[in-house]
Amino acid sequence: MTTPLTLDALRTQVAEGTTDTVLVCGVDMQGRLMGKRFHAANFLEHSHAETHCCTYLLATDLEMATPEGYSSASWSKGYGDYVLRPDLSTLRPVPWLEGTAMVLCDICEHDGETPVAHSPRAVLKKQVARLEAMGLTAMMATELEFFLFEKSFEEIRRTGFRDLTPISGYNEDYHIFQTTKEEHVMRPLRNGLHTMGIPVENTKGEAETGQEELNIRYAPALDCADHHSIAKHAVKEIAWQHGHAASFLPKWAADKVGSSSHVHQSLWSDGENAFRDPSDDLGMSDLMRHYMAGLIAYAPDYTYFLAPYINSYKRFAKGTFAPTKTVWSVDNRTAGFRLCGAGTKGVRVECRIGGSDLNPYLAQAALLAAGMKGIEDKLTLAPATTGDVYDAGDAESIPANLAEARTRMMGSEMLKDAMGEEVITHYARAAEWEIEEFDRAVTDWEIARGFERA
Ligand code: ADP
Repeated sequence: MTTPLTLDALRTQVAEGTTDTVLVCGVDMQGRLMGKRFHAANFLEHSHAETHCCTYLLATDLEMATPEGYSSASWSKGYGDYVLRPDLSTLRPVPWLEGTAMVLCDICEHDGETPVAHSPRAVLKKQVARLEAMGLTAMMATELEFFLFEKSFEEIRRTGFRDLTPISGYNEDYHIFQTTKEEHVMRPLRNGLHTMGIPVENTKGEAETGQEELNIRYAPALDCADHHSIAKHAVKEIAWQHGHAASFLPKWAADKVGSSSHVHQSLWSDGENAFRDPSDDLGMSDLMRHYMAGLIAYAPDYTYFLAPYINSYKRFAKGTFAPTKTVWSVDNRTAGFRLCGAGTKGVRVECRIGGSDLNPYLAQAALLAAGMKGIEDKLTLAPATTGDVYDAGDAESIPANLAEARTRMMGSEMLKDAMGEEVITHYARAAEWEIEEFDRAVTDWEIARGFERA
């Protein structure tokens, strides 16, 4: 990928008066863009080198709470600052906002150089570096699924999130007519991302009313995660500009299909797909088999990083295209892992476990860690499962809920060795806090069930 915007080009745009604002963003534990809106003159003078953010940004939840229990940030530690260091290779225009550019940052300790170990970009960079030491590059694609709603976020919030009418009245999977009706959102989305240098492949209707999919061409893992987080932000912002809400909640209605984020993966060396072996029946190299064996063996260990909230686990339901079993299958959408492009130079594995709420940095880091462990230990790939994998009785299941996934993550020596114990402890606290908060909530379900009959 060429850099879409250099500092010099930005300087020219600012002098000409076409750009006046730069969004300086870190990525938080939830995968959101968090930062400050700089006047472009200040960015060019000072803040292109560094700015600061409060340490609680990497020790909070979707609500911006300040839970105890993190060793990195707390009231007793005074919630000081991290350094936000712009990665100038990510400087881009934001075509749907007037006069605006953006840059992503690495989040560093006070010295301005040491990456904060649990910051999502650093977590992924660590696994990418391990892979580089093995002479390999991860080429990844994370699909983005989401729902578009008729009303805006503000209107929906005012109704207590009850007036949830999807933008279409029927399952619009691959539909061209229905998606024409959504082009006021989807066309500026595709075009805006393309102008930013994000290689959009397509958008399509997905398999539920109002459900959309956005596909971005595969790229090296860090670029892929950057593309994903910018694209997710773009979806919400452009939908909002047109008076609609876009939601990445994996399961917003029990009787509707959920939203996922499938992760396509291949490892390359010397510019070639190292997963390919034309002499193999399915075109898979030994490297690919070991990698996939690692993905499968450790799937319960890292499910947390693919499904980080209470709601994430509601998606894993039979007959919904979301998997329930951690086995692989050849071009079969009922399995946790699908072999795609068998026999071609695009041979790759698609992990179907991840929900639309995953953090793309953490998810890819966890998948790469498991795959690398499979390669290191030369794990053997079991034969493919065939048929309707939902009924594959003896196959291992995906953890049933957040508590189970958290327990598996905390017990994973593989993850601790690959990511560092402090990183696992940090995210285990995030999962625990999510469970604690949910346990404090009184839900609609409890009221409907017990109000009269308890
Ligand atoms: P699906 O039918 O599952 O929606 P798509 O064909 O829409 O699949 O998406 C396939 C994704 O896989 C695309 O984002 C594409 O860029 C990506 N892809 C293609 N080849 C490779 C590869 N060798 N490694 C990783 N990802 C790849």
